Amino acid sequence: MANFAIDAVKETTYDAIVIGSGISGGWSAKELTGKGLRTLVLERGRDVKHVTDYPTTMKNPWEFEHRGQLPLKVREENPIISKCYAFNETSEHFFVKDAEQPYVQEKPFDWIRGYQVGGKSLLWARQTQRWSEFDFEGPARDSFAVDWPIRYADIAPWYSYVEKFAGIAGNKDGLPTLPDGEFLPPHDWNCVEKYFSQQVAKQYKDRHVIMGRCAHITKPQPVHLQQGRAQCQHRTICERGCPFGGYFSSNASTLPWAAKTGKLTLRPNSVVHSIIYDEKKGKATGVRVIDATTKQMMEFYARIIFVNAAALNTNLVLLNSTSSRFPNGLGNDNGLLGKYVAFHNYRAGISGEYDGFLDSTTDGRRPNSPYIPRFRNVYKQETDFLRGYAAGFSAGRISRTSQDGIGADLKENLFNPSLGGWHVGSHMMGETIPKESNYVALDSNQKDPFGIPQLRISVAYDDNDDKMVKDYQEQMTEMFTMAGFKNIKVRDDKRNPGLDIHEMGGVRMGKDPKTSLLNKWNQLHACKNVFVTDGACMTSTSTQNPSLTYMALSARAVDYAVKEITKKNL
Ligand SMILES: Cc1cc2nc3c(=O)[nH]c(=O)nc-3n(C[C@H](O)[C@H](O)[C@H](O)COP(=O)(O)OP(=O)(O)OC[C@H]3O[C@@H](n4cnc5c(N)ncnc54)[C@H](O)[C@@H]3O)c2cc1C
Ligand code: SF4
Repeated sequence: MANFAIDAVKETTYDAIVIGSGISGGWSAKELTGKGLRTLVLERGRDVKHVTDYPTTMKNPWEFEHRGQLPLKVREENPIISKCYAFNETSEHFFVKDAEQPYVQEKPFDWIRGYQVGGKSLLWARQTQRWSEFDFEGPARDSFAVDWPIRYADIAPWYSYVEKFAGIAGNKDGLPTLPDGEFLPPHDWNCVEKYFSQQVAKQYKDRHVIMGRCAHITKPQPVHLQQGRAQCQHRTICERGCPFGGYFSSNASTLPWAAKTGKLTLRPNSVVHSIIYDEKKGKATGVRVIDATTKQMMEFYARIIFVNAAALNTNLVLLNSTSSRFPNGLGNDNGLLGKYVAFHNYRAGISGEYDGFLDSTTDGRRPNSPYIPRFRNVYKQETDFLRGYAAGFSAGRISRTSQDGIGADLKENLFNPSLGGWHVGSHMMGETIPKESNYVALDSNQKDPFGIPQLRISVAYDDNDDKMVKDYQEQMTEMFTMAGFKNIKVRDDKRNPGLDIHEMGGVRMGKDPKTSLLNKWNQLHACKNVFVTDGACMTSTSTQNPSLTYMALSARAVDYAVKEITKKNL
């Protein structure tokens, strides 16, 4: 007669478990299954199948009840998420509503989340710059965080590896602050953007305006066609999900690729409660999961566990994974779990007008824009703040359409918009400094709808950020003035931390277990079969967008983990 208990354990045992199916979890799953490991991906949200579960992607503006806008009631019910530029009637189904997943704002923090298969990979703006040697060396040079245990050379081959598969459009610009990658053809400039780039190149040796690098397929390669993805059509409605797979998402790329191996089990509606630590074995043996539909607690087991729940949720899962060996959270021997959280500072912006090129305009759309890599404090400390900022830049001609008249007159007006002058604008992307006082912790009283402690977030700007905002405004005003732009206006929208959606840290990498949680392979120093490869692992934040680095670190860590399994070290 069968032994039912043993059978049950067998059915819930895998070689590897991945927590979260977003950008980093998708990569962990692809790599693990690709190397032959039976892998369970646990995703707290619902399933979202590529193409079939993008309900708004083929809709025209007039097919939306509110023409894409959100009614006042929805905005009032969602004061946090409504601040996100991408949250509207066409994309609201991919955002976590405020009431669904409460958290405690010890200090104001706008936590923007996507809980579904694919996570925020369905929503992101797809900017993908490599981090440079300056970023990985930064903390050691100016002592603002612990030293990274890796350098650019450690991760460069993994950037190449993920870029080729994901499909990144960009130009090889030869800049030390922004290493070149494996690029598909870059997007085009318009004449005013090109003009500004040329003016900046003429006036400044160390400042550059380049075309942004982004995860769009501008020229499909065989590996993209094998994924079932096609050339981007420049519809610029990406946050609805792209049926062409024109941009990189877990749903279009890594998850279906993992599924093709036959080694993937994807379990949506599975809220990970905690990781199970076995004291006798001295390692993690599995995870506790609450089924979001039945609310039943269940357990799954595996030899290695990849935590990819997105930075702050990864902190939450680890903090909630207590045992007598780890009473303060898994791997938290030094008490630093949840601390040194940092983010990006997108508070400042600048706008202006240009009255040249009035005989030119633009045609069509472009899911990308030019980018100004960091130029402050690169080779020497030249300001009274640490680190620096990058910036976005774009130019467009203002078009006004008269709705006067009726019948043929109205049609004539609608078909012939009048063109105004050129509008130019930029926004800042500043690096914030990881500090012990910027932390997340579990609230001792308040629980979420699954009975899991709510996350208490205590993260704020500091004097360094304020000085950086001022410097961005001054330097960009100088550059805009030099280029002959007029009517220049700077702003500081004083947005709360979090709205930039690049939260990082809490489980940082480092060389020394006394001052860090993870080693150079993203492995918990104190629990070697648990790996963290999302934003939680980041030691510092750079000025560049972070997700490409999460992809590269995930692929690198899986490669290491599987080699360690082969050597019987895990
Ligand atoms: C509007 C917008 C624009 C952005 N633009 C850019 C950009 O241009 N460039 C860039 O680099 N980044 C950008 N980002 C950020 C980017 O989306 C994130 O950095 C990236 O998705 C993080 O990947 P991740 O795997 O850590 O998390 P996610 O992609 O968020 O995936 C995490 C997954 O884990 C699941 N999960 C969480 N907790 C649990 C649990 N307890 N149990 C089971 N599952 C769980 C979640 O439901 C989610 O599916 C943007 C984000 C948004 C929303
Ligand atoms: S711009 Fe490209 S990636 Fe975005 S929705 Fe259109 S085709 Fe898809």
